[in-house]
Amino acid sequence: MKSRIITNSSRNSWKFDKNSWKFVFKKNMIKLKEHKHATENKKIEKLPLPSKVYIPLSQALGKASAPCVQIGDPVLIGQKIAVSSATISSNIHSSISGKVSAIQDWPHSVLGETRAIVIESDGLEERGEKKEQRIEKEADKLTPEQIRNIIFEAGIVGMGGASFPTHIKLNPPKPVDTLIINCAECEPYLTCDYRLMLEKTREILQGISLAAKCLGVKKIYIAIEDNKPEAIKQFGAQVSEFVIKILKSQYPQGGEKQLIKNVLGKEVPSGKLPFDVGVVVHNVGTIYAIYEAVYLNKPLYERLVSVTGSCISNPKNLLAPIGTPIKELINFCSPLKHESAKIIIGGPMMGIAQWTDEVPLIKSTTGVILFNEKEAKAREEEACIRCGACISNCPMRLMPCLINLSSEKEMWQEAKAYNALDCIECGLCNYVCPANRMLVQSIKRAKLEAVK
Ligand code: SF4
Ligand code: SF4
Repeated sequence: MKSRIITNSSRNSWKFDKNSWKFVFKKNMIKLKEHKHATENKKIEKLPLPSKVYIPLSQALGKASAPCVQIGDPVLIGQKIAVSSATISSNIHSSISGKVSAIQDWPHSVLGETRAIVIESDGLEERGEKKEQRIEKEADKLTPEQIRNIIFEAGIVGMGGASFPTHIKLNPPKPVDTLIINCAECEPYLTCDYRLMLEKTREILQGISLAAKCLGVKKIYIAIEDNKPEAIKQFGAQVSEFVIKILKSQYPQGGEKQLIKNVLGKEVPSGKLPFDVGVVVHNVGTIYAIYEAVYLNKPLYERLVSVTGSCISNPKNLLAPIGTPIKELINFCSPLKHESAKIIIGGPMMGIAQWTDEVPLIKSTTGVILFNEKEAKAREEEACIRCGACISNCPMRLMPCLINLSSEKEMWQEAKAYNALDCIECGLCNYVCPANRMLVQSIKRAKLEAVK
C-alpha cells in the first residue's frame, strides 16, 4: 500500500453568515510567532550525568506512586523505585545509579511541591536487570495485553504534557477505529518532538504499529504541521500504511479535540473524550517511549527537552534523566546572555512559570524557557472592555470573560454552567485580551473548585 499525504489548507475564523445574520464559527486557531529557529537544527545531545536527582512521586495524572525503596538502598538505572498505587497512577524508575539519600518534599513544576525520592549518583551509570532486547519478529508476536503490560511496567505516561497513563489510554472503554499521532508541536520555542521525528523516524513507526495493535485500529494518521517539511519528507519516505496529514501551522493545533477536528472533521462533544467519537490521540514522544519499552526493554527514566529562550546562549535539545534539577540543564546551555527574569516549564502558552530552578525534570516536561526582564514584565490588569476578543478566539467556543467573572465572584456552579470544564488551558484568551485580564488563571481555579 502507498502512503498518502493529505494537505489541510483551511483557515480558522468567525465568519458572518448573511443568511442567518449570525457569526458562524470556523475552526478557531491563530498563527503565533514560532521562535523555533534557535533549536530546530540542533541535534539531540545527552546531558552529562547529574550528581543528584530528585524524582517526584507525582508524575502522572491520578494518584502519586508509592515508594518501594528506602533511604540507604543502592539503586541502578531503570530499577523500579515507586509503584503504581491506583488504577490511574504509574510506576517510576531510577534515572541514575547510586544510593537513595532521602525521600522528602521537593519543588515540583506543576504541583508546587510533592514528595520526591532523592538519589545520589555513584558516577557509574549502571543499568539494572539487563533484559534482552526484542527484534521486530518477537515484538510482532506480542499480544495487545502483553504490550500494554510492558507499557504499564515501564511507567509510560503521555509525554506531550497531559501525563495520562498510556496503558489505560491504549485500552479505551469503547471501541475505537482511528489512531492519530500528534506530531503538531504547536507551542512556540519547542522543538524536541521535531528532532525526535528527524532522528528516530523508523523507531517511531515501529512504536505506532504497537499502539495500533493494542487499539485494534487500521486507520492511522500522522498529524504534522507544515512548518516541519524535513520531518514530513522523512515520514513520507518511510511510511507505507499510514496517512500523513499535513496541517497548517497554527495554535493550539496540538489540543486533542482540535487535532481530531482538523484531521477528521469530527467534533468531540462537550464533556466527552476522543474515544467517544472512536479516536485515540497519542503524542509522538509517547510513541517513541512505547518503542523503547517494547524493543529495548527500557522504562521511561529519561526524556527529551528543549532548553531555550532569549537568555540562553547555547539553546539545545537535551536528553536528560528524569529528576534532574532544571538548573543543571540551564548551566549546560550557559553562559546566560542576560540574567533571566522568568523560567517557564513547558511552552510559553501553556507552560508554568517557576519560582525556583531546583524543580526537577518530570516525564511531561517538554521545555525549559528563560525569558529576559522585558519579555517577562507582567502587564497591569485592567477592567474588561467587553470587546469579545477572548470569545472569538477561544478554540473551545467558550466565553472566557464570563467564566472569569464567575470565578472572581467564586460562583463555581455558574462557571461550570459556562462550560469551564471544557477549557483546554491553551492561553489564547490571555494572549488576545487587550485589558491583560488573567483569564486562564481564574478559569483554572474555577475548574478545580467546580469539581470539588
Ligand atoms: S484557555 Fe480556555 S477559555 Fe481561554 S482560549 Fe483556551 S480554551 Fe478558551
Ligand atoms: S478579551 Fe479581555 S477585554 Fe475583551 S471581552 Fe475578553 S476579557 Fe474583556
